[in-house]
Amino acid sequence: MMNTKYIFVTGGVVSSLGKGIISASIGKLLQARGFKVTIQKFDPYINIDPGTLNPYEHGECYVTEDGFETDLDLGHYERFTGIHTTRNNSITTGRIYKTVIDRERHGDYLGKTIQVVPHITDEIKRRMLREGLDEGLDFVITEVGGTIGDIESAPFMEAIRQLRWQLGRDAVCVHLTYVPYLKAADELKTKPTQHSVKELQGMGIQPDILVLRTERHLDDHVRMRVASFCNVDLECVVQSEDMTSIYEVPVNMQKQGLDAAIMRKIGIPVGETPTMKPWHDFLDKQRNAKHEVHIGLVGKYDLQDAYKSIRESLNLAGIYNDVKARLHFINSEEISRENVAEKLDGMAGIIICPGFGQRGIEGKILAAEYTRTNEIPTFGICLGMQMMVIEFARNVLGYEDANSREMDEQTPHNIIDIMEEQKNITQMGGTMRLGAYECELRKGSRVYEAYGDEVLISERHRHRYEFNNAYKEECESRGMKCVGINPAANLVEIVEIPEKRWYVGTQFHPEYSSTVLHPHPLFMSFIRACIE
Ligand code: GLN
Repeated sequence: MMNTKYIFVTGGVVSSLGKGIISASIGKLLQARGFKVTIQKFDPYINIDPGTLNPYEHGECYVTEDGFETDLDLGHYERFTGIHTTRNNSITTGRIYKTVIDRERHGDYLGKTIQVVPHITDEIKRRMLREGLDEGLDFVITEVGGTIGDIESAPFMEAIRQLRWQLGRDAVCVHLTYVPYLKAADELKTKPTQHSVKELQGMGIQPDILVLRTERHLDDHVRMRVASFCNVDLECVVQSEDMTSIYEVPVNMQKQGLDAAIMRKIGIPVGETPTMKPWHDFLDKQRNAKHEVHIGLVGKYDLQDAYKSIRESLNLAGIYNDVKARLHFINSEEISRENVAEKLDGMAGIIICPGFGQRGIEGKILAAEYTRTNEIPTFGICLGMQMMVIEFARNVLGYEDANSREMDEQTPHNIIDIMEEQKNITQMGGTMRLGAYECELRKGSRVYEAYGDEVLISERHRHRYEFNNAYKEECESRGMKCVGINPAANLVEIVEIPEKRWYVGTQFHPEYSSTVLHPHPLFMSFIRACIE
């Protein structure tokens, strides 16, 4: 077995170039060559994890199986490669400092002055190398958040500089930049790339490979210019043009030999290009899906990234059902009894989105009522499931003031309640019910069928509140069935109304475990119902 190789992915010029997609694509391509890979993200902000961040700040919070709240790029890593990331794959400056400061308080530094170099950088290096994890990996891909030149990412850059020196050929630096097109001059400009590489070189890092993001095709002479100004081989300058779908990116990178270039740099024989048949089959399906199905996302965050994994799960399930899922954001704060019909008009199915806090919940409850009484396929996720339950309690069981303790501490009909172990929690970060828990499905239920007659499943969670078992029997007798139960804690994980076409709510987040090659069974089943 070869010793582990390290690939560092940095970005320059501007943010939002899609470093996460490039990192995930590199992972996919190396995996297709039979290598065991992992992908990790280092973020320069001070929060310990993004769990406490508002989605407007940082998009969706993605949850790993082992219950860590992470950056949404980990979702890309998992969807592209099917690997299961853990808390070791998402590191922030805050976590690095916390480790070092805790160690200092503990007296571990024996009287030394603790400094950014070497103490912080050593801790960064330790985590970049995944020391002590013993995973038998061939490749560790490390994506560094932010843009070259940011003050806060400097310690990460210094760690990469040192590691490159230490590891020699076992490390490769990939730098992602942007080549803008100036309409007035009708020219593609490479100057920002040159500056960005200079900045990197100024920190002692010579990139091995440049990935140029561009909206227009770059001719060879543009690539040649970049190569010669930046001291990079021509074959190591690849371009990443805008694609119709992010899932085309790995194939585009493979065509240009990105994986082969990495292997040559490291000194591994390149061999034949893998065919990636299942991936191509998926892309063919995606290209051929013509018929559209309109899905409404009822939520409060008017931002694409806030429901990233749900969106991707719907897209993927659509493609596997040979349709294009057209997603429409419907702001729950704007839904009223008067306009609910109009707001949801034309939707073949509705997702009631996860969330926290009071804002927008009455709109979600109205939407749940409308779809329940109008036979519109409905999928409630986490808070969405809780709103379905509250709606049922208010309008079917007749408890007008039914609510979740999260929204109304005094509610006499707390059909959604705080979990016992959550009652005395004062620290907000990382203390929810997080990560994968088992769930036992009721035989004969719709979800049991959707999962392919599996009884015991495991899904990821991120919530503090739960279905109150005191109402279970009453719900069951009036038609809302609790068809998924966590066997260890007897918590309700899934409700469904079997007499409806498709009316399912899950306390867990199935969207975290949809991947390109394995779309999630519940999203598949939901989309199928929407097509009918
Ligand atoms: N706010 C709800 C809870 O904490 C739901 C959380 C969510 O939708 N992720 O239980």
